[in-house]
Amino acid sequence: MDFEVEGEGSSFLPRLRSLSHLGFPWLFDKNKLLLWHNFIKRFEPHLKDTEEVDSFYFNLLLRAAKKWDRQNPKRVAVESYIELLDFEGRLYPEENCYICEQRIEEEISLMQSFKPAHPSCIYSAALPTKKILDFFASKKTVFLEDHEVEYLFEIVMKGL
Ligand SMILES: [Zn+2]
Repeated sequence: MDFEVEGEGSSFLPRLRSLSHLGFPWLFDKNKLLLWHNFIKRFEPHLKDTEEVDSFYFNLLLRAAKKWDRQNPKRVAVESYIELLDFEGRLYPEENCYICEQRIEEEISLMQSFKPAHPSCIYSAALPTKKILDFFASKKTVFLEDHEVEYLFEIVMKGL
């Protein structure tokens, strides 16, 4: 059992495979391994047209792998993803809704790529705006509840 990702072209994927040889203890935990596999899979379509993948991605995943068994892996995934958005210049820490462009008050929802919107504009569950904007700034989930992290993780799973 491993978490290899099949792909072509990118030197990133062979390097990713080598991660499995580093022998992380969670490789024997089925749930953690499954979460890791699902997380890694999102990188393949995201990076497939990139000729030379920046070492940022490898280092991001290596850091995530090291924390995967010491923290809730969903928190690690969500914190890794917001770093990725920031690195790619795609973080959208605005207080205005991506759909209607009006100001977002106490409640916020997030679209793919964590783009902020009114819950009513995207028919999605509401999160406390302040906590989410704090998360955008700190890139830490420590003040978020598990169900809030779950919400963010599901967005990551929709694609990077
Ligand atoms: Zn709106």
